[in-house]
Amino acid sequence: MSASNSPPVLSVYNTLTRRKEPLEPIRPDEVRLYVCGPTVYSWVHIGNARTFTIFDVVVRYLRYRGYRVFYVRNYTDVDDKIIHAAQEAGEDPNALAERFVHAFEEDARGVGMLPPDAAPRVTQVIPEIIALIQALLDQGVAYVSDGDVYFQVSRWPEYAKLSRRNLDDLRAGERVTPGEQKREPLDFALWKAEKPGEPAWDAPWGRGRPGWHIECSAMSEQVLGQPFDIHGGGLDLIFPHHENEIAQSEAAHHLPLARVWMHAGFLELENAKMSKSLGNVVRLRDALAKVDGEALRLFFLSSHYRNGLAFSDEALADAEKRIEYFHETLQRVEERLGARELRPGPVHGDPDAHLRAFEQAMDDDFNTAGALAALSALFGQMNELLDRPPVPDRALVARTLAALRAVAATMGGVLGILQSPPGVWLERQRDRLVQKRGVDRELVERLIAERGEARRQKDFARSDAIRDRLLQMGIELRDGPSGTQWKVRS
Ligand SMILES: [Zn+2]
Repeated sequence: MSASNSPPVLSVYNTLTRRKEPLEPIRPDEVRLYVCGPTVYSWVHIGNARTFTIFDVVVRYLRYRGYRVFYVRNYTDVDDKIIHAAQEAGEDPNALAERFVHAFEEDARGVGMLPPDAAPRVTQVIPEIIALIQALLDQGVAYVSDGDVYFQVSRWPEYAKLSRRNLDDLRAGERVTPGEQKREPLDFALWKAEKPGEPAWDAPWGRGRPGWHIECSAMSEQVLGQPFDIHGGGLDLIFPHHENEIAQSEAAHHLPLARVWMHAGFLELENAKMSKSLGNVVRLRDALAKVDGEALRLFFLSSHYRNGLAFSDEALADAEKRIEYFHETLQRVEERLGARELRPGPVHGDPDAHLRAFEQAMDDDFNTAGALAALSALFGQMNELLDRPPVPDRALVARTLAALRAVAATMGGVLGILQSPPGVWLERQRDRLVQKRGVDRELVERLIAERGEARRQKDFARSDAIRDRLLQMGIELRDGPSGTQWKVRS
């Protein structure tokens, strides 16, 4: 299904202007988007996973709205943290980075992220980085000091235009990092002189490796050009990372870096910002071992992306129940409709109204919370049609259910959920719970067979007793047209 034909009125909150603005891409039907990717020194934690899931949905929705999207998400594969982790593990830094790129991709698939159109790595753009640093040196906004190269913030009058921080406050708060040879406290490293045992590349000013910020300026320019449409990342990247990206790219080329800056809020665990350096980390991998990827996605999208989201086991369990309810409803719709073809005809009410509500929410700065409310309303109507149909005409009800199911699939495609047949998902979820709760599967199936036999012999006391016993084991039964289904109560 394609988006309705009204002209796009998508609005996006731009951190640069502190306003919601209509999205006006540089090329009318194309959106070029760059999101700062993971530093691959460890497993991705769920805070970062939420940010990347949000941009996955942004990309999906822009495509749904008819834009061609070019989505870039980089890997930082040279960095102090990687070198440190490699030294601690006695491993080659490249090998360690490679290992965690693979781990990230696996985890990203687990939570249903589409691969980006390009995933450049720092080690692949060293010549571009060197050229960019050279341009900054040539323009007199950067200087070499003892083999390091620094960006001289005082030479770039627009510095702090994204974060709107006060430069005097920043200067007062800046601590001198041992070993750095800066002229002024706010100057930041573009290049770090070679140290023993660290990866290094030749450059005109001496061997070394890039600083963190310069990589995104070089990679975005290489893949998307300058300016591009949307630059995204977590809220914690506004300062200094994105501020420094702007300074580097704009001072070098005298062009804006990106039109719109989007920032995702924090995932909060016990009211502390979730960050690997603070230690209160839940790895995405650990979360995926606890709950299904679709449940996790639903949880990530349950608040507006700019808002914080509190992580708790209860919140995850709620999301899991919700996604199970969606799939169970879809399975009941599937059973009701069967394989027979529906003759075209009128439907009850206006199934597309749900889609319009969904689009209205998503058009308003990708309000996924509102979009999920529209999805829930749709499922509410499906359940009403299944259980208490407001009209007697069964064909009319069936056509309406089919229309609602199609709308649900469209919304699910944008949100990255409900894409597998409900039976497949429910089976997978049951397997997960069987394992988690240590359910004796053989016993359950034997008892269900005995109950079936009792029912055939009209021994309802016995069949009820078996049902109760199963309930005590946390097993729920549902008798449907294709026999008795069972599930582990979530
Ligand atoms: Zn970046």
